[in-house]
Amino acid sequence: MSEGTRILVLNAGSSSLKYQLIDMLDGSRPASGLVERIGEANGRLLHTPRGGAARETLQVFPDHDAALKAVAEELAADGLGLDSPELAAIGHRVVHGGQRFTAPTVITDEVLAEIRRLIPVAPLHNPANITGIEVARALRPDLPQVAVFDTAFHASMPEHAARYAIDKALADEHRVRRYGFHGTSHQYVARATARLLGKDPVGLNVIVLHLGNGASASAVAGGVCVETSMGLTPLEGLVMGTRSGDIDAGVVFHLHRVGGLSVDEIDDLLNRRSGLLGLCGDNDMREIMRRAEAGDEDAALAFRTYVHHLRKYIGAYYAVLGRVDAIAFTAGVGENAAPVREAATAGLEELGIAVDPELNSIRSGEARVISPRYARVTVAVVPTDEELEIAQQCFALVHQAV
Ligand code: AMP
Repeated sequence: MSEGTRILVLNAGSSSLKYQLIDMLDGSRPASGLVERIGEANGRLLHTPRGGAARETLQVFPDHDAALKAVAEELAADGLGLDSPELAAIGHRVVHGGQRFTAPTVITDEVLAEIRRLIPVAPLHNPANITGIEVARALRPDLPQVAVFDTAFHASMPEHAARYAIDKALADEHRVRRYGFHGTSHQYVARATARLLGKDPVGLNVIVLHLGNGASASAVAGGVCVETSMGLTPLEGLVMGTRSGDIDAGVVFHLHRVGGLSVDEIDDLLNRRSGLLGLCGDNDMREIMRRAEAGDEDAALAFRTYVHHLRKYIGAYYAVLGRVDAIAFTAGVGENAAPVREAATAGLEELGIAVDPELNSIRSGEARVISPRYARVTVAVVPTDEELEIAQQCFALVHQAV
């Protein structure tokens, strides 16, 4: 086994490759960066070494292979090359693990084949993740490579929460069930919330609200996920930047039969042209709040719709958990948009939920409590760190595999 203490975390998207090198001795990041617009004419690599100036490379990266090789060269220039003995493993974010992968998994040919078999349920994500794995394995075939799945944390959901109420045999045949996503974030934030409160996660019930461009909620009882808002795909649940969230499936039939839209057009509409963007033409909450403040009706309605759905989920997950100890806001909107946190929790004192306006307005990158002392439920802002969670899971697995 490698004596290394560093994990390279790779997150391969369809045209991008994000990476962070994390040292597990102290959680520091010797380097991080991303390659954008892979396969396009105007590719860009932005590499940031710790304590140094970011280096930008503008060139064509024809494919992920070229992108990862360029990243490896940047790392090598800082003395952090992929052949460094300090590198213990490469951790890959993989979006869909289906029902088979419920924990981080060392990647073998068989595991890779199984991730490939899941492409029909994750056509937008798993192919890119697979490419990232293949390219990294080709560069360092001797190094442990670990897949950490976005769905894994939610695999503990009880069957009655994971099932859609449709024909059971048909659902099983096509693997149609609720899987949930953003799992590494929900897991990290649930644990970080317990740490913030100085409590053992085992005794704590937490509602985690991951509000980024994609958004999802989860109900976590004693560190175990019992319900989450995304489903077979990341389309279900909260109103998001460009996704509709919950919608009557009848809308799809209607748009097809009456509106004349094809299935692909409806897919594009609901995933990429709906949510906040569909309601007001913007998907950035900063811009929406600015416009709403300036009296823009569409932006104000988008904000209210977003918050309304968020409140419904808080209420629903309160009922699912029975007792709530903490509500944690995380990701771009959750960590930064005080008005969203205020509006989502307003008037819920009967449920023991309140937010202190002064605490809520503090800007900080640290995990912090924003509820008043008297409130029964602790409301907190807890910055997420999916890369650290992936690195920790990956490191624990390669050490346990000795
Ligand atoms: P994420 O997907 O977690 O990176 O979140 C991205 C989203 O966070 C953006 O689309 C914005 O809507 C939102 N966001 C980022 N910074 C702020 C901010 N300062 N205030 C409000 N929303 C923000």
